Amino acid sequence: MSLYLKTLVISLLALLSGSAFAQMNLFEPYDCRVHGDLSWDETVTDTLSQVAINAILNKAEPELKIEIDTIDGWKNWRTVDNYTYGKNRGSLPMITEVNALHPYFRDRILELIRTCRAKGIELAIVETYRTHAKQHEYQSMGKKYTRSGAGKSKHQYGLAIDVVPIVDSVAVWDNKMLWQRIGIVGEKLGLRWGGRWRHPYDPGHFEWTGGLATAELAAGKLPNLPVRDEHYPCIEEDIKLLRKYWREWETTQSSLTRK
Ligand SMILES: [Zn+2]
Repeated sequence: MSLYLKTLVISLLALLSGSAFAQMNLFEPYDCRVHGDLSWDETVTDTLSQVAINAILNKAEPELKIEIDTIDGWKNWRTVDNYTYGKNRGSLPMITEVNALHPYFRDRILELIRTCRAKGIELAIVETYRTHAKQHEYQSMGKKYTRSGAGKSKHQYGLAIDVVPIVDSVAVWDNKMLWQRIGIVGEKLGLRWGGRWRHPYDPGHFEWTGGLATAELAAGKLPNLPVRDEHYPCIEEDIKLLRKYWREWETTQSSLTRK
């Protein structure tokens, strides 16, 4: 046996005895809930992507909450009531949960919050996902609130967020210089910023659609992730869970509207 072959065999043996390789079955489908450092309850059938969660946990980001309850999980989503940030936003509560967002977009938002914090700017989340019922309420409140009809706002696909800077415990809506600094951070992360718009100027609004038009989103198409990002092996399961929770919220908020 040549020295080359010997070296090759020894390297292979060393590889096979390595725990990671020995435990890995190359012929089994990849299960996003098995890999990684967190252990999951066996009864859990649906979770958000664990790889994505680990990626965020490693950044010690306080905004992320792990969602594992499949029946009532949507009820644990954070919400705020009208006037929480000093403005009239209608009677239906606003969903402010970051986990209500498309996972890729959510992670960009966590990055936006983290980067702004590092610059001394504290951001509050005013609204993430928005039901049709809530969108309808904004429409009835006038053009100042939204120009988008039902199904036309990116919020309704978990692809938009409204934030506001908090200074000395007060939401500051009218500091253009401050908005500019926040907007630039968002744009560097690849987000579309409402501060570039005129009708209406909406500097607290950030969105991402992966290049999709609203009609494509309405037809159920999912935005393509940038090729460089490999943190989302379970994106389809994540979206399935999100859509289930979004439906629960739709049912709840539309029944509130009818009362
Ligand atoms: Zn918005």
